Amino acid sequence: MNALVRYRVARVGIPCIWRRKCFSSGNEPAESNRVTPMLRHLIYKIKSTGPITVAEYMKEVLTNPVKGYYVHHDMLGEKGDFITSPEISQLFGELLGIWFVSEWMTSGKNTAFQLVELGPGRGTLTGDVLRVFSQLGSVLKNCDISVHLVEVSQKLSEIQALTLTEEKIPLERDAESLVYMKGVTKSGIPVSWYRDLKDVPKGYSFYLAHEFFDTLPVHKFQKTRQGWREVLVDIDPQVSDKLRFVLAPCTTPAEAFIQHDEQRDHVEVCPDAGVIIQELSQRIALTGGAALIADYGHDGTKTDTFRGFCGHQLHNVLIAPGTADLTADVDFSYLHRIAQGKVAALGPVEQRTFLKNMGIDIRLKVLLDKADEPSKKQQLLWGYDMLMNPQKMGERFNFFALLPHQRLHDASQERNAHQSKTPTSSIAGFDELVWQ
Ligand code: SAH
Repeated sequence: MNALVRYRVARVGIPCIWRRKCFSSGNEPAESNRVTPMLRHLIYKIKSTGPITVAEYMKEVLTNPVKGYYVHHDMLGEKGDFITSPEISQLFGELLGIWFVSEWMTSGKNTAFQLVELGPGRGTLTGDVLRVFSQLGSVLKNCDISVHLVEVSQKLSEIQALTLTEEKIPLERDAESLVYMKGVTKSGIPVSWYRDLKDVPKGYSFYLAHEFFDTLPVHKFQKTRQGWREVLVDIDPQVSDKLRFVLAPCTTPAEAFIQHDEQRDHVEVCPDAGVIIQELSQRIALTGGAALIADYGHDGTKTDTFRGFCGHQLHNVLIAPGTADLTADVDFSYLHRIAQGKVAALGPVEQRTFLKNMGIDIRLKVLLDKADEPSKKQQLLWGYDMLMNPQKMGERFNFFALLPHQRLHDASQERNAHQSKTPTSSIAGFDELVWQ
């Protein structure tokens, strides 16, 4: 199993036109070099309106409603293109479930809350979180919970419904509506599907986004003697059905997203991530709750991280578009800047620190003691190693949270009351979990 599993974390330098290197060796097997319907669509588009930004390329390739990679694919797991933490081990989702319950308890045990997941994949993570809610039924018994999933993929939303809902209760579908599907989970909780976060009802909510922000389109810029120039995708003049990177001849609007004192010579900016963080921050400031974001990323230090994955292998981003996942590291410093003022932003902290603080070792021990089959024990240990090992996902993935300012204020007052020397506040995961 190990050999098959590659997660989307390997970093690859991107050979590109401004470094006077050709992106593709030109020797790819015929299969990978094939003219996909998406490639045909992009060539047609570029021929009619000119080269497109990397952000537009990413958006078209991943989420075009007719041909997009996410829309009709189940790309997760061994047979797919990549595997994610919730698919690796139940430990991951369970500890996140505990995080939400702990936040709900510490912030006043509201009589109702919404669990909102952005980009829920196969629904495994929400499923594991809901199992924790059921197990802690006595704690949550008077709380009115609903689940809201933001998903653009028709294929994945069907798989989410299979994972989460009670088969005996038929799903309500309305493709034209902002809520395109509704159902009831196995534990009797109402669940609704949306294409956009803006359509999720406002109200006291816990938001969850795992490996979602890395799929959002990035603009790429290269510093030149003439100033910043945006990287665009164009048709290779030598080969009519091949794409290549070029630099824009003059400035482009997205340049406004680059910091004035930027020191790097190549940057990626993700305005869509900014829009979503703004929306989450406004909602949390207004109605309370929290957002937990986990992804691979950096603090405004990395340069070209745009890459593709197909069949658990790195894949040239411009070859056979629509057949491979495209992704770029999340710039947490940017998310921090956007949230600043409205809500408190915590992190990023490394996944292994977050999960350790949430009690992964204790949970692993409980599950190992309960497992009667040696193969189950082996699987648990393998999953733990994948999540926690610094060489695997332990250091590459990070946790980041948005919370109301008041929540941090209360937490630090509590700490001071306990005469702690550290001025930092005590928020589970970012600090050791303490049940109140
Ligand atoms: N969170 C899951 C899946 C990660 S893959 C896990 O960890 O296993 C990315 C997910 O985001 C997929 O479900 C994909 O369909 C969804 N997605 C990608 N772009 C999106 C967008 N713009 N809006 C909503 N969902 C999106």
